Amino acid sequence: MHSIGITRIWENELMRFVRFSTRGRRLKQVATVLMAVSLPAFLSVANTLSGQTRYDLLLKGGHVIDGKNNINAIRDLAITGGKISALAPNIDPSLARKVVDVSGLWVTPGLIDIHEHVYTYVAQQSSQADDQGFTPDGFAFRAGVTTVVDAGSSGWRTFEDFKTRVIDRSRTRVLALLNIVGWGKRGDKYVQDLDDMDAKPTSEMILKHKGVVIGIKCADFKGPEWKSYEQAVEAGRIADVPVMIDFGANRTERPLYDLLTRVLRPGDIYTHVYWGLMGEQDEQTGGPSKALIEGRKRGVIFDVGHGNGVFSFSLAVPLMKVGFVPDSFSTDVHLNSSTNMNAAMNDILEVMSEFLAMGMPLDSVIMRATWNPAKEIKHQELGNLSAGSPADVAVLRLENGKFSFVDRRRASLDGTQRLVCELTIRDGKVVYDMKGIARER
Ligand SMILES: [Zn+2]
Repeated sequence: MHSIGITRIWENELMRFVRFSTRGRRLKQVATVLMAVSLPAFLSVANTLSGQTRYDLLLKGGHVIDGKNNINAIRDLAITGGKISALAPNIDPSLARKVVDVSGLWVTPGLIDIHEHVYTYVAQQSSQADDQGFTPDGFAFRAGVTTVVDAGSSGWRTFEDFKTRVIDRSRTRVLALLNIVGWGKRGDKYVQDLDDMDAKPTSEMILKHKGVVIGIKCADFKGPEWKSYEQAVEAGRIADVPVMIDFGANRTERPLYDLLTRVLRPGDIYTHVYWGLMGEQDEQTGGPSKALIEGRKRGVIFDVGHGNGVFSFSLAVPLMKVGFVPDSFSTDVHLNSSTNMNAAMNDILEVMSEFLAMGMPLDSVIMRATWNPAKEIKHQELGNLSAGSPADVAVLRLENGKFSFVDRRRASLDGTQRLVCELTIRDGKVVYDMKGIARER
């Protein structure tokens, strides 16, 4: 408050100087032009000249949803040095180097997608660690996503190659779940290989890159053995990170109930929760199975992992109706052009819009793509707009109209609202602005 007061006094003095002291013709002309441009712009220039500019960027007048800080209101958001610096009902625009009018739009923390496949350029044809992976920068920012977790495309044998090729070169923040299979998702021959599922080298690689590697992934395993899941949990115990499970196949030898009540720990993540083929639904009631109910009681996390063949409205709609809602959304997006990105789901905004269509309130939807996944991957500096947090921000428009959404069974669901991205900011820099809302008019 003190420094704002000084700024205002200084501004008043400057105005007096302009009004009464500019005898020289040239200075008078400059003052006239500045006044004509508008008073705020003039004060902003004045503040910049005097070193009083406090903020690099000010998003003005947006409706902010920040689940961590329990904010759901019109707020101005200021960014300085790549960090969130202020969130308040009315921040003086003359204190900002750049002001963007975001009135009528929704301002949220940068979205976090904890299940994507972004490891590409390795030699194995048709694997998710190759020609189904995609470069994150081309797809993340346009959906308001600033943090992507690659879910098991690499294992301990291939992670450092993935890091060099993709993680270190991307503007998107890319984190990883290591596959419990040493060679990662190279293709079916590799992911079924029990001899390549080893907690020791997996945990060693995690500890070497802790923070970037945030956990372990089991995926696509079809056999009757528990080894894949048990080795993953063991690696998770050694490295103190969660595991994420894609259950692969419904086997009577290793039922979902045992996975969720015995094998997994609180904080471990069960993805593809609305798959519909793993015993998720109680046949009598149509609601969640005992496995899901008991798993949630124990603190197992349930994630959407929408993907192409692993999400069914016929399961999601009845479970949502009785309150079995997911803890986080994720897309499982990969370049399987016939069944995924060109047929089942575009991006996380579409997944979020589907849950709006199923009746989830907007603030709950935002929470599941921001603060909840940040906690799940133990990156609590992300997914919120607290002062000092990295300035990762999404500015979204909520469109009203007639929309429809599709699932793995080629069913569709009608909706009346859809989220679209207007502006994405990563570490304080505008990285997506296709309509130029942050540009000079
Ligand atoms: Zn996946």
